[in-house]
Amino acid sequence: MKSSVRVSFYGAAGCVTGSKYLVENDSNKVLVDCGLFQGKKELRLKNWDKPEFNPHELDAIVLTHAHIDHTGYLPLVVRHGFSGPIFCTAATKELLSLLLPDSAHLQKEQARFVNKHKKSKHKPAKPLYGLSHVKETLKQIKVIPRDETTKILPKISILPRCAGHILGSTSILMEVDGKGITFSGDIGRYGSPILPNPDSVEMGDLLLCESTYGNRTKDKADVGIELKAVIDKVVERRGPLIIPAFAIGRTQTLIYELAKMEREGKIPTLPVYVDSPMAVNATRIYRRFKHDFDDDSREIMAEGSNPLLTDNITFCQERKDSKSLNSLRGPRIIISASGMMTGGRVLHHVRHHASKEEATILFVGYQAEGTRGRDLLEGAEEIKIFGDPIKVRASVEQISGLSAHGDKTELLKWFKSGKGTPKVVKVVHGEPDAASEFADTLYKDHKLDATPAKHGETVEL
Ligand SMILES: [Zn+2]
Repeated sequence: MKSSVRVSFYGAAGCVTGSKYLVENDSNKVLVDCGLFQGKKELRLKNWDKPEFNPHELDAIVLTHAHIDHTGYLPLVVRHGFSGPIFCTAATKELLSLLLPDSAHLQKEQARFVNKHKKSKHKPAKPLYGLSHVKETLKQIKVIPRDETTKILPKISILPRCAGHILGSTSILMEVDGKGITFSGDIGRYGSPILPNPDSVEMGDLLLCESTYGNRTKDKADVGIELKAVIDKVVERRGPLIIPAFAIGRTQTLIYELAKMEREGKIPTLPVYVDSPMAVNATRIYRRFKHDFDDDSREIMAEGSNPLLTDNITFCQERKDSKSLNSLRGPRIIISASGMMTGGRVLHHVRHHASKEEATILFVGYQAEGTRGRDLLEGAEEIKIFGDPIKVRASVEQISGLSAHGDKTELLKWFKSGKGTPKVVKVVHGEPDAASEFADTLYKDHKLDATPAKHGETVEL
């Protein structure tokens, strides 16, 4: 009897988060990515639904990269009885040792959120998992090399390639019973600092392609020029520059850009404070994985400089280090998380400085609706932090171009760089508009059988 290979979509189908793809042949089941739903209320509540596959029946899990919307569901699957190996790159493993414990802490908050919004039959809803489940999960991780084929089960092998998105990120070609399935993972931007460009990948019979920006073409704004303009004003005002930034990826890119401008003499050396324990640890991990850097960063190292250190940089690990920043004077740069000001130490800095005219708050990433970051960007005259109303007199700025996701042109460039042509393309990891526009482009311009993936559907090869 001819064996069949099936791929089912249990997340990031019709939305961006919750990536979970189940691959089955007649003898094994492998899950590719195991992410939490994030963002809108309806999506987040889905994390509390019963898993749509049986964790006991899984033989292995494969991860494309460390972001929580690709990995944050792992401890729950382990809690429900999955005891097999979790395959990922060495850098992904390191980043998970930061991200998953943090996610366990956030679970308590999330359980409160569920109890408020969902009429649970088993009241009250409990956190999805705790630290003990995270510890078990981390023990199950098996590191695999990039650019080499690893046989993970008798008839299943995987070949991960660099995706240029965050440290350790990959696109993966999976061979199952002689059939090829390509998972794009999240594709980074071409020419962005620190990491190499996304690698070309062999296209299998089926391609699962992300589409976060599948309907947008971003102009290649020169981050250096925009950042310099902001810093020149900060020097003039002699006040603090507060940059809310994601701890992993964005913070390191910012340090890189600042260090580059200092080396080139474009900005004066200012004190830089990285004030987020996760960002401090993530930067340490980035520096340890310098063999994963791109040619420009290697060249900087060969010249004796460190691409991830400015001339006067302080990494604040302890709370007292963070508090001591309040008493400083003069122009200075504070990079702190969270990136959308939904929590973290950045709130203390904004509370302390937002009412001062000499202060500047700079946004370097997307600010979702309903976040304080979005309110500030939209010109709020007052914001609430820890219940206190704060009058906003600081200047609020924004720069684009630091995204970790390729735009439509770059996604197509990545696709065209691939070897071979997939028979079927399922467009995933995008809002409905982005996914359908990207699928249409692949259908019309490349004559491909490309459609947006639907939640719960199964493709048979
Ligand atoms: Zn990602």
